[in-house]
Amino acid sequence: MSTIAQVVSCLDGYDPNALRVDKAREAIRGCLSIIQETQTVPVREALGRVLAESIVPSINVPSHDNSAMDGYALRLADQTTYHEIGTALAGRPFAGKVGPGECVRVMTGAVMPQGTDTVVIQEAVRLDGKDVLIPRGQKAGQNVRYAGEDLKVGVPVLQPGAWLRPAELGLIASLGIPDVKVKRKLRVAFFSTGDELASIGAALKEGEVYDSNRYTLHGMLARLGVEISDLGVVRDDPLQLKKIFLKASESADVVITTGGVSVGEADFVKQLMAELGEVLFWKIAMRPGRPMAFGRIGDAFLFGLPGNPVAVMVTFYQFVRDALLHLSGRNDDYAIPLLKVKCSEALRKVPGRTEFQRGILTKANGEWSVRTTGQQGSGVLRSMSEANCFIVLEHERGKVAAGEMVSVQLMEGLA
Ligand code: AMP
Ligand code: MG
Repeated sequence: MSTIAQVVSCLDGYDPNALRVDKAREAIRGCLSIIQETQTVPVREALGRVLAESIVPSINVPSHDNSAMDGYALRLADQTTYHEIGTALAGRPFAGKVGPGECVRVMTGAVMPQGTDTVVIQEAVRLDGKDVLIPRGQKAGQNVRYAGEDLKVGVPVLQPGAWLRPAELGLIASLGIPDVKVKRKLRVAFFSTGDELASIGAALKEGEVYDSNRYTLHGMLARLGVEISDLGVVRDDPLQLKKIFLKASESADVVITTGGVSVGEADFVKQLMAELGEVLFWKIAMRPGRPMAFGRIGDAFLFGLPGNPVAVMVTFYQFVRDALLHLSGRNDDYAIPLLKVKCSEALRKVPGRTEFQRGILTKANGEWSVRTTGQQGSGVLRSMSEANCFIVLEHERGKVAAGEMVSVQLMEGLA
């Protein structure tokens, strides 16, 4: 197996001191291997999981031709009056045969009675006792749902790697399948590093801050549906750090740390990580979130995120999320879509890095526009809370004038 350094160095334009966001994402993907273990779970529990088998229908859905409307089923011929001989409801078929000039009253979902091919909606007919008068202009085959029109016997409907959403649960249930094989959940462990960090519940001493990163990480990971292991706060102490890195990497697929990767502490943590496994330190051409470590200890992948609370969230959404979804084996395109909207204010920006400003997308007079949340410091977590989108200012882009179009990524629905 090639080392991370080998994989990454093959990338065109790789520069660890000013790595472009798209290059970093590509580099990380290139190093990951998709988890292989699977488990079988009841359909309901498969929500949000990744399918690990093909779903091939053993029945047609629907299983019979049936009526799409309330009306009259008949074999369409060149006549205007049909005699009603019975009724069919959903789940209660008409037992007899329908001959020429005859019709059966049908409700939506009723099996098409033998001898019929067309349904005329009830609003269109006139009744004269048991005679049903049909206006001209009906089309043979109208208002009929055919057997197998949704799902056909033998034609695969879901492939391994499918992300199971509510629609897929329903689809699987419509085939009568009670259990499905899915990839096992990813196990993600994380801890915060810093001598200044206090845990909630403890009194805050001078110079301390409460550890908020473990809570944003908890939230972001929980939404991704992974198994979470919160290992707490670790002091900037090599022995403690070493112990926890080893413990975390033994049981988790991915280990995420925050803090201690900026210059100063970095050299110290760097040494330790390099001793335990293979870790690359990157300066990413982005704001916020410049310093980041990526590597591997044993079988676990490691993300050393910056300490600043906004930088943690931005690097998580831009790199860790993508990596976790890739590892989980999803085969859909889960990249966060970029939408173009008008920016209602001027923004400062220099070419040469990607910026993720926190934005508020609103609609006024029928038109969507975005503005920033104001102060954009990477320690201002309030900016993430007030925002409903990232304003993504691309690598090459310079300053933005009020009224120009910018790219945004919606935060809601991000998982
Ligand atoms: P570092 O990357 O360790 O130099 O930290 C950068 C900044 O983020 C410092 O101001 C830290 O106090 C702050 N910080 C680091 N970790 C956390 C955390 N878990 N919660 C809140 N702030 C943090
Ligand atoms: Mg620190």
